[in-house]
Amino acid sequence: MSGPRPVVLSGPSGAGKSTLLKRLLQEHRGIFGFSVSRLSARYHEEPEARRGEWQSKAAVQAVQAMNRICVLDVDLQGVRNIKATDLQPIYISVQPPSLHVLEERLRQRNTETEESLEKRLAAARADMESSKEPGLFDAVIINDSLEQAYAELKEALSEEIKKAQRTGA
Ligand code: ADP
Repeated sequence: MSGPRPVVLSGPSGAGKSTLLKRLLQEHRGIFGFSVSRLSARYHEEPEARRGEWQSKAAVQAVQAMNRICVLDVDLQGVRNIKATDLQPIYISVQPPSLHVLEERLRQRNTETEESLEKRLAAARADMESSKEPGLFDAVIINDSLEQAYAELKEALSEEIKKAQRTGA
């Protein structure tokens, strides 16, 4: 399949994926795209998992065929599911500098109840560990300074961004 490689963005809730992505989309209009469906863990627990996977893959490839970088924001199970396909994306993990900082950011974002916060922090602990697994991610970006993290994200995607710009409409 020609066209830019998709990008998988993963990492704990509150790590800063949406913030980074928003900047990326603002600075690069017409370069990125989104697939309609998701290769998430929940999806794959359904009986129609195989069909779901196919539909998701086709959706990603449709974006790629439009010469756009398809962004997949998935959890770790989603990462592992995508690894089982031949989509060959760039795998990027966005991590907070520490659990403590993550907790502060989640509290400031004001989207969590005390209960959901606890769940997110427990999941984040596991996610931070898994991101160290050799070969799982092409880049692990620690989102301490937003400027620095954003620069690293752009660097990790520079080849694909060039590809999409070169032949883009
Ligand atoms: P995610 O999409 O990964 O769940 P968000 O992008 O919503 O995370 O970020 C979580 C919160 O942290 C938001 O309120 C955001 O404004 C804030 N945030 C993101 N990156 C930074 C950073 N580098 N420094 C300080 N605050 C940040």
